[in-house]
Amino acid sequence: MAGIIKRLFSKKNKRDISPSVSSNNTLLRDAEATVLKRDAHTVSRQKISKNALKVLYRLNEAGYQAYLVGGGVRDILLGLQPKDFDVATDATPEQIQAVFRNCRLIGRRFRLAHILFGREVIEVATFRAGHESSEGSGKKQNKPKNELSRTSDQGMLVRDNVYGSIVEDAFRRDFTVNALYYTVKDYSVLDYTGGLDDLAERKIRLIGDPEERYREDPVRILRAIRLACKLNLSIEPSTAKPIKQLSELLTHVSSARLWDECNKMLLAGHAEATWDQLFREGVSQYLFPQTVQALAAKDDQAKAFQQFVSAALKNTDKRIANQQPVTPAFLFAVILWKPVQELTEKLIAKGKPPYEASQKAASQVMEKQRMITAIPKRFSLVAKEIWGLQHRLSNRRKKSVYSLIAHARFRAAYDFLYLRAGKDPELSELAKWWTDYQDAGPEAQQNMLNLVDNKPRKKRKRKPANKKRTTTKKQTKNVPPKKL
Ligand code: ATP
Ligand code: MG
Repeated sequence: MAGIIKRLFSKKNKRDISPSVSSNNTLLRDAEATVLKRDAHTVSRQKISKNALKVLYRLNEAGYQAYLVGGGVRDILLGLQPKDFDVATDATPEQIQAVFRNCRLIGRRFRLAHILFGREVIEVATFRAGHESSEGSGKKQNKPKNELSRTSDQGMLVRDNVYGSIVEDAFRRDFTVNALYYTVKDYSVLDYTGGLDDLAERKIRLIGDPEERYREDPVRILRAIRLACKLNLSIEPSTAKPIKQLSELLTHVSSARLWDECNKMLLAGHAEATWDQLFREGVSQYLFPQTVQALAAKDDQAKAFQQFVSAALKNTDKRIANQQPVTPAFLFAVILWKPVQELTEKLIAKGKPPYEASQKAASQVMEKQRMITAIPKRFSLVAKEIWGLQHRLSNRRKKSVYSLIAHARFRAAYDFLYLRAGKDPELSELAKWWTDYQDAGPEAQQNMLNLVDNKPRKKRKRKPANKKRTTTKKQTKNVPPKKL
């Protein structure tokens, strides 16, 4: 692969151009693009979505510059199918809206246009200029309230809406491999930041000073890890180095954004590799602190939990590869399972009845996670249902089985049980019973249920409430007097 890309932009295919830049930033004014002409690269219109092409042509016809950029160009150059297509233009969001009827403007921190084509969305962003960084000098600037670019006390970019030229746009992007521009004017690919070299060497490299870029937006830490795992690229050493020290900055990122990123990391077909790398880089503790703590113990339970989580992540990746549906509710149910169990035990030890303890633990653990990654209620409720059904799955009597099978979350709860079983012989037997039951025909199912129903029930202790009516003098001896 590296060889192919290297050949694609060998010297004879390169042409340097000096873009006209209005900025007084010398670095940018001097920036030159490496241009790969059509016959020197693999980005063909056949590999680009028809809707993305429509957007590019329409913007050009309206007199604007328009480029395919980001994952769309990067993935095609790597021989992969892009997940989505992003467009960059010199038209402002309002000008974009005037060109497309099917356009919706979104975002505050980063304003952009979504062009809607049924289920496909083409994201169109106006060229951004880099903001004036003040964190390097340590100076604080007094800026007007309606400012277009703003950094927080931690140096984080909380607004990024200063428009600029294509060169400025290239340098404010995160990684060099994400800053490649494809135009339908002459079908060439433009590279201002060395992305083609890095692609050839299969490297993720932050543009500019890595520490400053992570401080500006700590989510770039997650993006570096996600893209490295998704594309099988390595994170170049100076880009990798500050991650351990700076990942704590993720605690300043909004829970809504972290939720989005978690979804991208865990539901894009590379969950297992990404999860492992998040651990290795010391990032997980800021995303899933309860899980990290539950895994930290050196005992067999922690080991079993580790295997359970790995099995679930592997399974998720496999389902995505087979185009089967996946839900974040299931994965979050998995990664929070041991924290919920541990808290349940603690609450029982404090005297709470088991059912109440498990309900309370589920809510507390989920709430704590939602503060970090804003899991929408529709998913957190499903995760709680999956947990709630685990106990019920151990009851195989007729009535219970009929109502469980009809339960909307039965399948998820069964899958969860199956993964939990791992190497535990007792749980494996139970999971196998449910597998066999679902595979069996009606007659065989009846036989299975009859076998269970004919087993002698465990003797139940009489409830104290019944004792009350038949209390004898002897029994009252040990009952403490009721407090009034
Ligand atoms: P994917 O395959 O996941 O879509 P992508 O690189 O296209 O990968 P997007 O989230 O679609 O990711 O973003 C599109 C482009 O916008 C990126 O390629 C990058 O150039 C730029 N970008 C996205 N997020 C950031 C960020 N936090 N900082 C700087 N640039 C970013
Ligand atoms: Mg994209």
